[in-house]
Amino acid sequence: MVSRSLPSLVPERLGNVIAGELAAPSGWFEKVDPHTGAVLVEAARSTATDVDAAVLAAGTSQPAWSRTPGVQRGLHLHAVADELERRADEVAAIVSCETGKSIGDARGEVAGAVALGRFFAGEGQRLFGRTTQSSAPGRLALTVRDPVGVAGLIVPANTPIANVAWKVFPALICGNAVVLKSAEDAPATAAAFEVVARRAGLPAGILSVVHGYGGEAGDALVRHPGVGVVSFTGSTRTGRRIAVAAAERLARVSLELGGRNALVVCDDADVDLAVHWALLSAFSNAGQRCAAASRLLVFDGVYEQFRDRLVAKTSALRLGVEDTDDLGPVINEAALVRLLATVDAGVDAGARLLTGGGRSSDPTHRDGWYMAPTILEDVPPGTPLGCEELFGPVTVLDRVGSLEEAIHAVHASDYGLTASIHTRDWNRAMAFLRHVRTGVVSVNGGTYGSEPHMPFGGTGASGNGSREPGTEALDVYSELKTLYLNSDTDLVGERSHG
Ligand code: NAD
Repeated sequence: MVSRSLPSLVPERLGNVIAGELAAPSGWFEKVDPHTGAVLVEAARSTATDVDAAVLAAGTSQPAWSRTPGVQRGLHLHAVADELERRADEVAAIVSCETGKSIGDARGEVAGAVALGRFFAGEGQRLFGRTTQSSAPGRLALTVRDPVGVAGLIVPANTPIANVAWKVFPALICGNAVVLKSAEDAPATAAAFEVVARRAGLPAGILSVVHGYGGEAGDALVRHPGVGVVSFTGSTRTGRRIAVAAAERLARVSLELGGRNALVVCDDADVDLAVHWALLSAFSNAGQRCAAASRLLVFDGVYEQFRDRLVAKTSALRLGVEDTDDLGPVINEAALVRLLATVDAGVDAGARLLTGGGRSSDPTHRDGWYMAPTILEDVPPGTPLGCEELFGPVTVLDRVGSLEEAIHAVHASDYGLTASIHTRDWNRAMAFLRHVRTGVVSVNGGTYGSEPHMPFGGTGASGNGSREPGTEALDVYSELKTLYLNSDTDLVGERSHG
C-alpha cells in the first residue's frame, strides 16, 4: 500500500496555534490514515494548560475584534472564504487523507465550507435586532446583538472542513474570539483552516486551534471559566457529559448530536427513486453522517421489490478513495471493530444479513478500515443494531403496514434529527411533514443535512434544541441586549419605571 502524505499547507507536526504562533504542547499523538493504516501526522496532545493559554489569548484579543464593526468583520470573513476557495485543492487533499473520502467528495465539502463563510460574511451587513414599540411615550425599544466572548468549539471528523466552517464563521461574525478543539481524527483539516485564515489576514488571537483528545483538551475547554459559549457537534453520549459539565458554571451550550434517521418508502412510491436516495442516505461518506438513513421503513406492498433492488445496488457499490468509488473506509480501527461487533451481535440475536456484514474482502483494502456496505432485516428492536446510532455503512430494513405505523416507528427512536418519506400521495406527504417530530423532514429525497442558510438540529437525543447554521446560529453566538432610548424624559414619566 502506497502511503499518502499531507500537502505542505500544514506543518509536518501539528502544534497548537495560539494567537497566530505555534505553541509547544504538553505531548503528541499520532493520526492514522484510514485508507492505509499508516501514520499520517503527529498532532499536539493538549492538556488543560495548553487550553488555558489558548483561552487567555482569545480573551485578550476579543474586545478589539468585537469593537470592529460587523461589516468590517464580514470583509475579513469574505477574505477567509476566498482564500479557502483558492486553496481548495490542498484543503480537499488534506480532508481526503484524513478521512479516506475521495478527492471529489472532499472538494464538495470544501465548497460547502466556502459557501458557509460567504453566508456569514454577509451577515456582517445585517446582524439584525428588532426595533419595536414601548409602552411609554417618547421611548424607543430595540434589541442589538452583543458577542458572548470566547467561543469554545468542538467538532467531529466526519465532514471535517464543513464542521469547522459551520461553527467558526458564525462565532466570528458575532464578534467572538474562537478556540477550536480539532477532532482527533482530523487535526490537519483544522490546522489548514487556521493557516488559510491567517494568510487571509484574520487578526491573530481571534482564532486559536488546539488539538488533542476529548477527555483531555475537550473537557478542559468545556470547563474553562473564560469560555462563554460551548458549541459541540458529536455523539449524544459526549453531548450529555458536556451539558452536565457546562451546567456547573451555567455556560451556554449548543449541542448537535447523533441520529438514527428513517427513510420511509410507501406503497405508491417511485421505487427506483427511493432506492437511489436510500443508497446515498445510508452509504455516502461510509454512513458516517449524523443524518444517515440507518432505518428503512418500507410498506408491505413494495417491501420485497424495494429490498431486492436495494441489495443488488448495494452489492455493486465500489469501495476506495478514488473519485470513481462510492464510499471509503470508516474513520478508525475502533469504529470498524464497533460496527462489526454490533452487526455480529444483531445476527446472533436473530437479524438476517442481506449483504455485507464484514470487512471488505478486496486485498487492496487489507490495511485500511473498510467495511462492506451492510443491510439487515428482521432486526430485534432492543438490540444495539435495532436502536442505537450506527454511524457506519450499515442500514436496517423494517416492514410497516400504514403511514400511521411508519410515523409511530419513526418516533420509537430516542433520536429526532431527520426523516424522509417517498410517496406520490400529497396527503400522505403532508401528514408526514406535519406530524413527524424531527428537525428536518423531506419528501421524495434523502435524509439530508442542511444548506448554509438553513437551520439544522434535532429533537430528543439529537440535540438540546439549538439550531445551526442559518441565521439561527447567530442566536447561539450572540447575547441579545434590549435598549431603551428615551427621547423626551418629560413624556416618558412614571410609566418608564418597569
Ligand atoms: P465524539 O462525541 O466521540 O467526539 C466529537 C468531538 O468531541 C471530538 O472532537 C472529541 O475529541 C470531543 N470529545 C470527546 N469527549 C469529550 C469530552 N468529554 N469533553 C469535550 N469534548 C469531548 O463523536 P465522534 O464519534 O467523533 O463523531 C460522531 C458523532 O457526531 C455521531 O454521533 C454523529 O451523529 C455526530 N454528528 C452530529 C452532527 C449534527 O450536526 N447533529 C454532525 C456530524 C456528526
